[in-house]
This record gives sequence, C-alpha cells and structure tokens, in this order.
Amino acid sequence: MAACAIQFERIDTIALHNTQKVLDAYKKAQISSYQFSGTSGYGYSDMGREKLDEVFATVFKAEKALVRPHFVSGTHTLATVLCALLQKGDCMMSLIGAPYDTMQGVIGYARYTPHSLKEKGVLYEEVPLKQNAYDLDGIRTACQEKQPRLVLIQRSRGYSSRATLTIPDIRAIIGVVKEVSPDTICFVDNCYGEFAAEEEPIEAGADIMAGSLIKNPGGGIAPTGGYIAGRADLVDAAADYLTAPGLGGELGSYAYGYRLFFQGFFMAPHVTAQAIKGAVFAAAVFDRIGFHVSPAFDEPRSDLIQTIYLENEKNMCLFAQGIQTFSPVDAHVTPIPDDMPGYADKIIMAAGDFVQGSSIELSADGPIREPYMIYLQGGIVFEHNVLAVLSAARYILENK
Ligand SMILES: *Cc1c(COP(=O)(O)O)cnc(C)c1O
Repeated sequence: MAACAIQFERIDTIALHNTQKVLDAYKKAQISSYQFSGTSGYGYSDMGREKLDEVFATVFKAEKALVRPHFVSGTHTLATVLCALLQKGDCMMSLIGAPYDTMQGVIGYARYTPHSLKEKGVLYEEVPLKQNAYDLDGIRTACQEKQPRLVLIQRSRGYSSRATLTIPDIRAIIGVVKEVSPDTICFVDNCYGEFAAEEEPIEAGADIMAGSLIKNPGGGIAPTGGYIAGRADLVDAAADYLTAPGLGGELGSYAYGYRLFFQGFFMAPHVTAQAIKGAVFAAAVFDRIGFHVSPAFDEPRSDLIQTIYLENEKNMCLFAQGIQTFSPVDAHVTPIPDDMPGYADKIIMAAGDFVQGSSIELSADGPIREPYMIYLQGGIVFEHNVLAVLSAARYILENK
C-alpha cells in the first residue's frame, strides 16, 4: 500500500477532476428526480432518455450522444457505429493491429461470418503493431494510400499484451490520419477507458466513440446498455441504424426507469478509480512475490486491465479460486478451466458479479496456454480488490 501511494494520489486526482465534470454537466442539464421515471411504448418525449444523452454529450465534450439500454453489449454498440457508417466498397482500417476478439466477428476478420461487414462488401485493412506498439509511420503511409472511410482506434489493450493507448497517443494518431486523409472518420473503441484520464478521445480529435454501460461509465450499477458520442451527423446515423431510418434517437422507452444510469454515471469516475487502484495494488503484490506483471504498479494507466504472468496452469487455477472465494456473489463455487465457443484453448474465469458479465466489477480470466497470463479487471470497491488479491496470492504461495 505504501509503495502504491504516489499512484493512488494520481488516480484520486483524476477522479476528483472527472467528478467535477459530471457534477457540472448534471447542473447544466438541471437533472431532477422526476426524469428518472420509466416510460412505455414508443417513448416519445422520454425525458430520462433525452437528459441522459445530454449529460453524456456534455461530459465527453461531444456534439451529441446516444445512451441506450437497448444496446445489448459493448460489441453491439460498436457494431452499430460501424454498420451505420460503412457501405459496400468502403474501406475500414484498424490502426492498432488486430481488434478486440468480439469485434473480429463483426468484421468477419479471420473466417467467414454471416452478416459481417466483409459479407456486406466493406473492405477491411489493418496497420500491424511494430514492436508491440502503434506504428505512426505505418499509419501515415496506409491512410495516405487507402484514404479509408473510417479508422478504428482501440484505446484499451483488450486481451493483448500491447500497451493501452493514452489520450496523447490517441491525439498523435488522429493528427496523422487527419493530416493525410482529412475526410476519414476517426472512431475510438473507448471500452474500459472512460474516466481513466482527465480527457476523453473526442477531446483528442476523435469524430465518434462508443463503449459499454456495464464497464466504466455505468459505475457498476447501470444494469445494461451502451453509449455512442461524437459528431451529431455520425451519432444520428448510428441512431437510425439502431432503430430505423427516419426514427433515429427520438423513440425508445425503458419501463424500469433511468435512476441507475444517472447514478451510475455520477459514480463512474470514483468507481473507475477504485478499479484502477485495485489493479495497481495487484501489480505491486504479484511483483513482490516474484511474478512478471504488466503494467508495473508505478506505470501510468489508461484502462482497467492488469495482466499477471502466472507461469503454469496450476497457478492460474489457484489465482481464479482465490479471487472467487472473495466474491460477493457465487463465492461458494470453484472455477475450473473449460472450453468456450470461439476459443481454441480452455479458459478459466473468476467472477461474482451483481450485474451479469459486468467487467467493471472484479473479475479474472485467461486462456490456459503459454505464457499463462491472467487478466484481472474491475472492482467497484477497492477494499474488495485488496482482500481478493491477497487471497489469490495466498492460494498460490501456500500451494507452491
Ligand atoms: C469489452 C470490450 C469490447 C466489447 O464489449 P462487450 O460488452 O464484451 O461486447 C470491445 N472492445 C474492448 C476494447 C472491450 O474491452
């Protein structure tokens, strides 16, 4: 804890700044409790829906936002943007190597996937990583040559070993794209990145971005959904794709009401800081007991993910068990590696979430293969991370 103190202070400062941004936005939008009520049917003049769009747009410095419980996941939200903005013959280019696993299905990346972008006739290009980092020269050359309709910039490392992009990285990348191909739409996959820094990708020049509400911006209590924010014409196109051409964002009811979305977004800067502090603490503990970790506990962070190289299958299982026994939900079950659709290797997962699959809540997972890397993410209560991480360390040390 003492070793982490400087990092914790840095993280708390970011949370303070971001909480101020959220408060300012709520005041400007005159948020009141009557806007939290549920609606039915078409949801015409649904005040909660409209106000939620407004506060997301203000906080993220976007012209417009579309915040909807109707998005089933982050992938659905990101796919809505891609499908709305890309037509047959258009070129889409990923600038940071291979995109996140579930986005590969949307693209039709490695293998035939029905209804994918490739099946629609969209041309997919990719600028590979260079020495496991983004390659500005490669990006410049590729964008100059292909003049892509849209580039995809994934902020978080996802399940790869590259570094997460910082806001200055995103600004540099977008600067190069706009210089050589000014009409290209710069789209940021912001999953896991929200509130990890004092600025967001729109401020770094992105035209549009999207993310999941069961990650950072839901604050651990939004029950489902996703958001899109950016240039008004692009957000409108995505809204037309989500509902129907001509309907856009003007329709859509939610019977349960919007309190959890407003409260979650209010809590999101603090909750994101809890998760990042948990990741820093885990890095410090596992470094001290002799495991390689990435990022190191004293490196700056731009997302929630901590990787720990556990050296063998046994340690991965012990780690997952140690985390699971300290979950608020399903603490009595034992995670074991098993096959999962879409994965070649067995996967182990530890999670005890209140919101199913929520990765802003503490979870750990990884494929059972070299280099036996476990991905630890989330944690809405820092004290929980401390107890769970110490439990995981104890399981491994006691079974050496
Ligand atoms: C989580 C995530 C997604 C997809 O979100 P789901 O809600 O799991 O569909 C996409 N990109 C990145 C970088 C993510 O972390």
